[in-house]
Amino acid sequence: MHEYSLVQSLVERVEALARERKATAVHRVVVSVGELAGVDPGLFQTAYDTFREGTICAAAPMELRTLPARWACPGCGGAIARGEVLTCPACGLPARLSAGADEILLETVEMEVP
Ligand SMILES: [Zn+2]
Repeated sequence: MHEYSLVQSLVERVEALARERKATAVHRVVVSVGELAGVDPGLFQTAYDTFREGTICAAAPMELRTLPARWACPGCGGAIARGEVLTCPACGLPARLSAGADEILLETVEMEVP
C-alpha cells in the first residue's frame, strides 16, 4: 500500500497550500507521477478517492498524468531519447535519468480563495 502513503503526503501538501493561501475549498488537483516511480496509476487514483473523504480535497477530483522518463547527458546536458543507446553521442558519457524516476509533482491545485 505504497500508494496510500504517497496520497497521504500529497493531501498534506494540498492542505498546507490551501492554508497558506487561506482557501476555503479545493476544486481540482492535477498531479504528475514519474513513469518509473513504481506507482500504479489506478491504485493511486483509488487511494486518493478513498483518502480524500473528510479532507479539504473531498470535493476535488484528481487528474493524474504520467511524466515520461527522460535521460540526459551529465557532461553536456543534452537530452537522450529513449530507445537509443543510452550514451551521449557527443561525449560518450552514459546517460543519466533526468525525469520520470520518482517524482510525484503537484502540478495544479484549483482553490476557492475568498
Ligand atoms: Zn554529452
